[in-house]
Amino acid sequence: MIRKAPIAAPITGAIHGTPEQEAYLEKIVKQFTITPDYLEKICTHFMSEMDKGLNKEGQTLAMIPSYVEGRLTGQEKGHFLALDLGGTNLRVVLVTLEGNGKYKTKSSKARVTTELKTGPMRDLCDYIADCVDEFLTEEGLSNTDTTLFLGYTFSFPVLQSRINRGILKSWTKGFNCTGAVGKDPVMLLQDALLRKNVPIKVAALVNDAVGTLLSNAYQKPNTSIGLILGTGSNGGYIEEIKKIGKWKSNENPTSHEMIINMEFGAFDNERMILPVTQYDNKVDRQSINPHGQIFEKMISGMYLGEITRNILLDMIDRELLFGPQEGRYDCKSWSKELSGHYAFVTSQMSTIESDGTPELTRTKEALDLNLNLHAISTPESKIIKRVCEAVGTRAAHLAGVAIAGIVRHCEISPEEGTDVGIDGSLYEFYPSFEERIYDALAILLPDHKNVRKTVRLGLAKDGSGVGAALTACVAAHMEGRKKGALG
Ligand code: ADP
Ligand code: MG
Repeated sequence: MIRKAPIAAPITGAIHGTPEQEAYLEKIVKQFTITPDYLEKICTHFMSEMDKGLNKEGQTLAMIPSYVEGRLTGQEKGHFLALDLGGTNLRVVLVTLEGNGKYKTKSSKARVTTELKTGPMRDLCDYIADCVDEFLTEEGLSNTDTTLFLGYTFSFPVLQSRINRGILKSWTKGFNCTGAVGKDPVMLLQDALLRKNVPIKVAALVNDAVGTLLSNAYQKPNTSIGLILGTGSNGGYIEEIKKIGKWKSNENPTSHEMIINMEFGAFDNERMILPVTQYDNKVDRQSINPHGQIFEKMISGMYLGEITRNILLDMIDRELLFGPQEGRYDCKSWSKELSGHYAFVTSQMSTIESDGTPELTRTKEALDLNLNLHAISTPESKIIKRVCEAVGTRAAHLAGVAIAGIVRHCEISPEEGTDVGIDGSLYEFYPSFEERIYDALAILLPDHKNVRKTVRLGLAKDGSGVGAALTACVAAHMEGRKKGALG
């Protein structure tokens, strides 16, 4: 698989800002730099939170058993549908598993509008059912006799009680539909599908981190960790059932292992250890879920641009950025676009971080085009680039903490090693995000002398979609195995 993210281009030469600008910039950068000792501290705390979550309900790291038992063989076969409600898009995917780790996909994509994200849940489910119906018609599958099995990737904190049953605990990532918290998203969707006569059985409820792990494992059987670095962020890993102290299922598991959906976006919601800055606090307070998902808000795509924007606004308010200059006639209102919530998006940071031109021409163009910030000076562009670098690097290092925490918890030795499947546009496109994760891993996993070889990060493209189809397949297998066990 080809990695598309370019390498971040370092700032060339001095910034040539004023002494005040440079001093304040350094202060900000320092707040966003996590020392190796401090990374270690966060990692240790992360591991103890994992233990807590495994042994008791209602902990900050929810550590939710996914009801996906056992490992894949790569030989799974069949046609399955997958539905991926990620945060930014809704995707319907037809997955044909061909065995030998091979699969084919056909998919369609639709945007989920803010009205749908914050309106009644029934409307959202109706919309999803319509999208599925349309897709089936396009693919000529709407008039078949057989009911297709669907894996539903629903990437919000859900307490599962079966492979296709669960209760939504809370919304995240800008969603806030009414009539959904405390309810089962599978039942709500199945109901909409029935009402519209769409011949689909929702066979599995899948968290996207879990799905990503599975889809990576289909091709690389030595996968034990899945990660999401997209709109939001989360992780899943394979745990030994005997280590899940809170597991009290009456049913005999069909395997000694189970995938855990960590819901690590909520890590340190108590703010005991994370180096939360004033800028993070501002993003948090003005978000749709204040105080929740603080780790996610420091790591993931939805928020990195917003953190950066808040830093730039602070500098503007201190008259350290965008002061009077030729071409800016009305200096006070000149940067008004930048005042809009979420006006500075994370993909913009990718453009800026990859800009290797000596005068940062591409940065200037992008800021002009997207935020109407014309006539930006080269020192100003360099300051903005430095801020992006600080925010982006901290995110990647914190993502590294989570991966290292899982590797250490599972005692994965360098000899054993593991593949780590990662899905999400942040990982896929943000310059040097992967390099920076490895930098943190090298610090936190000193036993892994060549950490790139032993903790192998890789893009699980379509991870959540293919993973959902695989989960629907696993659901069928588990049924089979249980029936088999009963004779
Ligand atoms: P989802 O999380 O909804 O499944 P994605 O994995 O595609 O979807 O993630 C979308 C998020 O990724 C967007 O919210 C945006 O913040 C971020 N993103 C998109 N493009 C880029 C890019 N070029 N560079 C960095 N981040 C990006
Ligand atoms: Mg996704």
